[in-house]
Amino acid sequence: MRQSRYFLPTLREIPSEAEIPSHQLMLRAGMIRQLVSGIYTYLPLGYRVLRKVERIVREEMDRAGAQEVLLPAVQPASLWQESGRWEDYGKELLRFQDRHERPLVLGPTHEEVITDLVRQEVRSYRQLPMILYQIQTKFRDEVRPRFGVMRAREFVMKDAYSFDVDWEGLDRSYQAMYKAYESVLQRCGLRFRVVQADPGAIGGEGGSHEFMVLSEVGEDSLLVCPRCSYAANIEKARSKTPEYGSAGDVPPMERFLTPGARSIEDLKTRFGLNPETILKVLIYRVDDRYVAAVVRGDHEVNEVKLKRLLNARRVELADEETVRALTGTGFGSVGPFGLTMERVVDDAVAALPEGVAGGNEPDVHYRHVVPGRDFQWEKQGDIRTARAGEPCVECGGTLEMYRGIEVGHVFKLGTKYSEALSAVFLDEQGRQRTVVMGCYGIGVSRLVAAIVEQHHDDKGIVWPASVAPFHVHVIPVNIRDEQQRTTAEELYRQLTERGTEVLLDDRDERPGVKFNDADLIGVPVQVIVGKRASEGLVEWKWRRTGEVEVLSTEEAAERAAAIGSGE
Ligand code: ATP
Ligand code: MG
Repeated sequence: MRQSRYFLPTLREIPSEAEIPSHQLMLRAGMIRQLVSGIYTYLPLGYRVLRKVERIVREEMDRAGAQEVLLPAVQPASLWQESGRWEDYGKELLRFQDRHERPLVLGPTHEEVITDLVRQEVRSYRQLPMILYQIQTKFRDEVRPRFGVMRAREFVMKDAYSFDVDWEGLDRSYQAMYKAYESVLQRCGLRFRVVQADPGAIGGEGGSHEFMVLSEVGEDSLLVCPRCSYAANIEKARSKTPEYGSAGDVPPMERFLTPGARSIEDLKTRFGLNPETILKVLIYRVDDRYVAAVVRGDHEVNEVKLKRLLNARRVELADEETVRALTGTGFGSVGPFGLTMERVVDDAVAALPEGVAGGNEPDVHYRHVVPGRDFQWEKQGDIRTARAGEPCVECGGTLEMYRGIEVGHVFKLGTKYSEALSAVFLDEQGRQRTVVMGCYGIGVSRLVAAIVEQHHDDKGIVWPASVAPFHVHVIPVNIRDEQQRTTAEELYRQLTERGTEVLLDDRDERPGVKFNDADLIGVPVQVIVGKRASEGLVEWKWRRTGEVEVLSTEEAAERAAAIGSGE
């Protein structure tokens, strides 16, 4: 590609709307432009990288035995009503009508559409197992689109769906996809962790894992045990329930006054109470009812865990007015006693020998409160957010926290969709059974951003060779110099002929401009054709290290061709 003709609008300044390096660099390197919030155009350079990533994904899917299809982006609302997600999915689902006023949605994911296909076409166990995948544009009306293509409204996803006769079959399909995902990320040159995950809105009763690219700008927090293999998204991560020494005989509860205390912090600083022994009670609206969640004062309620434990669709903190109406007191003195609503107690509270709790009247607390003796509960479980430094639930090692970018997510759906949509088949004995499904997503466009996030320096992007938009950047320092121009042109011609992807900077620009642009767009190798071209010598510069070697033009050509052919 000749740069003089290439649509590559690079920017010198950092665009003010871009907060994180990948967003800044993808704009500056002329890869993407925003149309409206969360909706982007890929310019030629960006599209080349996107296609390289797509190719890796496609190769690994094909290798795992998956078959590529292309499903419609527009889907009828009726399918979503059938699966129940018309209600569950919320405002991220873009809904609209056609001219006949038939309700439609723009696909944020395709479980319904693919299950509909399979229920019509698959009749017999002989047609199973099967894995289908597509690479396609998705639309999700995200509340806060940001970070460029990292969290966009329109984005490219690879979504795959597996169909098996039973759970053992699903385990095999899941393993195959899991392995394929690891290969994809390795080939993209990424450092990542696979973590246990909450299935979220996709649902399903089986397991779920997320593939997290490690990065400070990641929106997800992961807890990882350095001693065993335990790793989980903070939405799901568990730490061991604390063990408390025996308190011996606890005296009866004792009422005391806490004037003006509104928070755990107040109780700590003004009344000298240890948050670890305070019972924090939070009132939640859970679907159509209210629930009191009880955790230790120094712990946070994990709403994802709470939602899952209660098998709820929606979980939302109640406002103070509601709390007052339900408990008789405002924030700061709500306690677990005498509540008419369901109480859910965290394991770390249930194990507490004694604690301090609000009295459900303003400015009143009780000490020597013994869970189980002084109040009861309807449900117990792990509803707190685990923290770094706490003991690993598996081995007791000390959990560490990392930030991650979720680039992939695999789910064992089981029969959630096949049951709702009646996707059934006849087994060997002629009995009708429900298809067992899995689903597997990779954010292809998010992957591009994640790669930039892990592969850049202060000058620009540093592409791993596997996804670089070009293999080699040939840069004649002065295009008006006859010798330099012919050497560069000749290299370009030879290499292109041999299948190497070359970007030739044939622009009549100052050397500084050319070098800055080259470092910004980050092609792994720069072949700089300068004054010594007359002696048959050029400079070979690795973008990553900045290391420069002087080579004969022939040797540079050989090396570049080898890179192009993947050697
Ligand atoms: P997130 O928690 O980041 O919103 P999700 O759990 O909603 O992701 P999935 O439904 O599992 O995502 O979708 C599969 C993959 O699609 C994700 O792992 C991610 O890589 C990608 N993805 C999801 N939402 C977006 C988005 N708004 N922009 C870009 N990629 C996305
Ligand atoms: Mg999401």
